[in-house]
Amino acid sequence: MTDRRLIHLNQDLRQVMSKYPDLQVHYVNDWPYKISGRIEIFDTKKVKWGEFLIMIPVPPNYPNQLPEVYEISGIIPRIADRHMYPKGQACLTARPNEILIGQRGIRMIEFLDEYVVPFFANQIYFQSENKWANGEYSHGSYSIVEFFCQLFTTDKLDVLLRCLIIAIERMELPLNGKCLCGENKFLYGKCHWKAIEHASLIKRSQLMEYYSIINYYRLNPGMKPIDVDTEDDFEGKGST
Ligand SMILES: [Zn+2]
Repeated sequence: MTDRRLIHLNQDLRQVMSKYPDLQVHYVNDWPYKISGRIEIFDTKKVKWGEFLIMIPVPPNYPNQLPEVYEISGIIPRIADRHMYPKGQACLTARPNEILIGQRGIRMIEFLDEYVVPFFANQIYFQSENKWANGEYSHGSYSIVEFFCQLFTTDKLDVLLRCLIIAIERMELPLNGKCLCGENKFLYGKCHWKAIEHASLIKRSQLMEYYSIINYYRLNPGMKPIDVDTEDDFEGKGST
């Protein structure tokens, strides 16, 4: 890491410490390699809901990688239904979204505010209500389908696949032509163009993998998403 990157990283971490005073930064020599400590969750009326001990390794590609967060207090069961990997790592978002976030870059404070705190607040909610506050989202490969449904604003998997092909082939379609989704009468530039451009930030080989996963669910409409990320899958993370 260059001196300038280290300076920026330390600035970001100081920002974290001032907002989350129960978190500490750990160093090896001058290198801040992880954050750990207590995170408190409050409701909108500032009433404390609960607390967790967490550990966040500083990603090697910071800020161009979504950090990982481990729940080390052992409060949340390490099961897929709770969006926890066996080693206590939280499953924060769908894999394609992780890639897109990494490309855009994410600061540590933003990560805590937008991913870590909402994740643990949602866990507390689940513990008392037995459902998720923001609606159910899937763990494992079905989350890929859900992510692209959201990105392409459709729940029709054949439409999803048509959009994905355009992204995979990096096709430059006329913006004033009809959109290939066939969903409405909008011109391409006003319909799926932006979402397809966004998806095109993901590399082709990865998109092709997503295509085949979505196609599997299209061909097996009754198939309930039961699969779970394996340990291998877990280790392979970030290799994209
Ligand atoms: Zn469209």
